[in-house]
Amino acid sequence: MSQSQATEATRAAIATFAQDLPIGDTQDFEDAERGFVARSETRQVRNAEGRVVWDLDAYRFLEGRAPDTTNPSLWRQGQLLIKDGLFEVVPGIYQLRGYDLSVMSVIEGDTGVIVVDPLISKETAAAAFELYTANRGQRPVVAMIYSHSHIDHFGGVKGILTDDDVASGRTQVIAPEGFMDYAVSENVFAGTAMARRAGYMYGAALDKGPAGQIGAGLGQTTSTGEPTLIPPTVDIGTTGQELTIDGVRIVFQVTPGTEAPAEMNFYFPGFKALCTAENTSHTLHNILTIRGAEVRDARAWAAYLTETVDLWGGDLEVVFASHHWPTWGRERAVEFLEMQRDMYSYVHDQTLRLMNQGYIGAEIAEMLQVPPAMEAAWHTHGYYGSISHNVKAVYQRYMGWYNANPSTLWPHPPVEAARRYVAAMGGADAAVALARRAFDEGDYRWAAEVLNHVIFADESHAEARTLQADTLEQIGFGAENGTWRNAFLSGAHELRHGQFGTPTSAAAPDIMGALTVEQVFGSIGIRIDGPRAWNEHIVLSWVVTDEDTTHIIELRNGTLNQRRANAAKPGTTTFTLTRRALIGLVTGMLDLGAALADGTVVCDGDPADLGRLVALLAPVDPNFAIVTP
Ligand SMILES: [Zn+2]
Repeated sequence: MSQSQATEATRAAIATFAQDLPIGDTQDFEDAERGFVARSETRQVRNAEGRVVWDLDAYRFLEGRAPDTTNPSLWRQGQLLIKDGLFEVVPGIYQLRGYDLSVMSVIEGDTGVIVVDPLISKETAAAAFELYTANRGQRPVVAMIYSHSHIDHFGGVKGILTDDDVASGRTQVIAPEGFMDYAVSENVFAGTAMARRAGYMYGAALDKGPAGQIGAGLGQTTSTGEPTLIPPTVDIGTTGQELTIDGVRIVFQVTPGTEAPAEMNFYFPGFKALCTAENTSHTLHNILTIRGAEVRDARAWAAYLTETVDLWGGDLEVVFASHHWPTWGRERAVEFLEMQRDMYSYVHDQTLRLMNQGYIGAEIAEMLQVPPAMEAAWHTHGYYGSISHNVKAVYQRYMGWYNANPSTLWPHPPVEAARRYVAAMGGADAAVALARRAFDEGDYRWAAEVLNHVIFADESHAEARTLQADTLEQIGFGAENGTWRNAFLSGAHELRHGQFGTPTSAAAPDIMGALTVEQVFGSIGIRIDGPRAWNEHIVLSWVVTDEDTTHIIELRNGTLNQRRANAAKPGTTTFTLTRRALIGLVTGMLDLGAALADGTVVCDGDPADLGRLVALLAPVDPNFAIVTP
């Protein structure tokens, strides 16, 4: 067998899987096309320099029957997700779909429009909004709503609005309480590691095609233009809070700690239309994404959806969200909401039931059986989240990484363990022979485990690398979950062609510019090289003029502590500057010498004290190894 073809075993596994799919239910295709108004001629979006930042045309191959290198359920999801264009949800509410990972909605008021969730990049948001105005006319944007704190729901804001639109009061920006903290922190503290892992999750380096990337389940992929951010002007902090904007009445339900730490659903009584942000979608969502994040609370998520149905289930006629297509009709919409709720509730409760019988996450993930009604509904299938990794996430939320078996409490780390396993298997060649037998028998999970030991013991073992790439690829071909497929195929890609690093950049200037002073010092603290710094003692005072605050940072024992103070600490070097200038110094956009010379930064004391601190910072590595040691 050559690479990039499905083996007999993979084809058989897919055929068995496909037997249980509700193939006769084609309602989603109807819903994904309902209300179609127009689509743009080109499905590519370019930035100002001409670089393609979004390319839906690359998915033209998603036609007809699923090839044997793909799971037919994920193939079908991709076919639905490339139905792009401007769609009418109900008269007065429109959606732009197929312009990014997420979906943008437009609500028409008396004189202008309210925009919900402006995609990831300013380029894709502008292109989508252009399709709207070309068909519905130029109208002022009176309000922007960010449904939650993830970048695919705010990043494109400057494709539609300017800072001045908001500063002048022409446009209000509405978001759930806590939005700014989470919008910024998620991209900063763990940003480098998460961005590298996100490259795997979305298959950013893979060719699009039947043997490559075919989608991500939630949307096809992420756009790669410029993410931007305009801070909200109106906070939504309580359920039942109402706003009437340009004649449009909106009632909010806050849902903190669900799909995002700051998130909200909202209802438009005049349209009998409910927007559920990302709390419901046409997939089982993630309790913990495989790129990494703080684990989410499935129980709270389910409880909020019960509240949603109680609040508006008796009145609504359509439910739409910021991914995928709407669900029309009260009965179907409520059933959809309740089924989504049941799915999170079921995964949570059944994991705990089995946990309290002594099973660990890895066991429960194999044991958990989905109710037939859920199996028969497409939208509860795991295209983005999976039962397997969500069960482990619930276990982790309650129990952490340790499974209570002390023989796993202090194992050797991967390379040390690998050397010993390979020796025990009779050496690398014998281990590869063992793995090849497992591969030939279709036991790809075991082959992957054995080969991983060989590669971690000797990363130059060419045969192990080749066979591991083939192995991961077969698992990827069979996966219903888009992020799993992308991860397996990305691993195969790196083993064959070398590391692809982090194809999408994490830190956009607009988002870095929104850091609070505390977040700036926190982001310095996590870069201190502990062992090099542990004999140093540095205390610096910072007067931040535009915020009228004073901060003292102290490096001792290799750790940087910070606190607010009433005044600079006597006898310490004190820097007086704006928050923007502080961010400039930290990001390297502002040179300290130049800033001191032109007065942007004023220093009382020895500016070299800051240089001593900067010298202790370690670089981050956006190219770190994943499938090799
Ligand atoms: Zn999203």
